[in-house]
Amino acid sequence: MSEEKFWLRISCPVCKSGEPRYWSHSECEKTYDSDNDVKIDVNGNIFCNGCHLTDPLINWRFRCEKHDFQKLENLATLLEVLQVMINMSKNINDQVKYATMVANISTMWALKAQNN
Ligand SMILES: [Zn+2]
Ligand SMILES: [Zn+2]
Repeated sequence: MSEEKFWLRISCPVCKSGEPRYWSHSECEKTYDSDNDVKIDVNGNIFCNGCHLTDPLINWRFRCEKHDFQKLENLATLLEVLQVMINMSKNINDQVKYATMVANISTMWALKAQNN
């Protein structure tokens, strides 16, 4: 498994609002520094650069101008904002890794749905 991590730069994955942007972990936001923004790896795990917390993306809650912290409820919306991130990448190797990440996230989502 690759340990490589990428900056998570997406529109809000709950409601698709806003331009793609970087995200930070709420616990680390107080000491905000762009070095604390969260990254994502090919397995679909989010990694906080500030406190080193690691957790599957699909378990995170996101807050934007339109709502307070909300769980992801719609896989299609999530995949859409991730696809924009893939399309913005000019690097073919990164695009391949992003595609792997999207496949892993879809699998995790399906497994989670089965267990609910
Ligand atoms: Zn939102
Ligand atoms: Zn953190």
